[in-house]
Amino acid sequence: MFADLHLHTNFSDGTYSPEELAAQARAHGLAALALTDHDTVEGCERAARASESAGLEFIPGTELTAEQDGNELHILGYFLDTQNQRLLTEIARFQLVRQNRIREMVARLQAVHVPLQPEMVFALANCRSPGRPHVARALVKAGFCATLDEAFERFLKKNRPAWVPKFKMSAADAMELVHQSGGVAVLAHPGLNRSDEVIPGMVEAGLDGIECFHTKHSTAVSQHYLEIADRFKLLVTGGSDCHGLSKGKPLIGTIKLPYQHVERLKARASERKTALAISAGAKFLPVNGQ
Ligand SMILES: [Zn+2]
Ligand SMILES: [Zn+2]
Repeated sequence: MFADLHLHTNFSDGTYSPEELAAQARAHGLAALALTDHDTVEGCERAARASESAGLEFIPGTELTAEQDGNELHILGYFLDTQNQRLLTEIARFQLVRQNRIREMVARLQAVHVPLQPEMVFALANCRSPGRPHVARALVKAGFCATLDEAFERFLKKNRPAWVPKFKMSAADAMELVHQSGGVAVLAHPGLNRSDEVIPGMVEAGLDGIECFHTKHSTAVSQHYLEIADRFKLLVTGGSDCHGLSKGKPLIGTIKLPYQHVERLKARASERKTALAISAGAKFLPVNGQ
């Protein structure tokens, strides 16, 4: 039995709907899947229903953008309570930041005489977590660029005319947000960050796991992070980071995480939920025996 624990839908910058994602997971013979859209959990309810009908185990998740020591990091949260009020409030705030960033990118494009309109990006994104890939797609659709690569190279990459720095919360805050929602916090694709020195500090701040298996990790890189997981006693996860058809070939099915890792993740989440319930209950315990 295998799982893919890193998947995106059209609730962020993926192209599949939650139903299409579940169908793809089934077609690739997966037993379990996790939805990890950027800064949102909105697709989880539909994905859970579609997975259930397809006979698959569904794990609610998200991928939060954060930073540690000036490095951008992505924190995956698994088994979160997707109705948690503070999680939803924070998510709404991140989404507003994302939308304002799109407006700023479009303004900078206009300043270099590319008359793209923010509405064109928002219409195309059709979600509350729009990002740079949506601006790239809008540039191609409007005929300002021939390809998505060209859009990034000419305008959207760091230090290009339409690049706008992204607000990021600290990695510790992202992990705390995941934990207080009953979830498990995992460092996404560490091989893409090239900043292993942040790991010990994150472990101290409560990191639960590390994504050892990822489409962009070579066998040697995966092995390296398996050793780090072992050294720091971290849970091991893996996923394809499939964005549907937006980045060429769909990646779902290219990473097959053995199911035993899902069981360990689940056990950690259930310990956390028990601890949260106890500490919430403790507030109402009688003081001085009254
Ligand atoms: Zn990521
Ligand atoms: Zn991702």
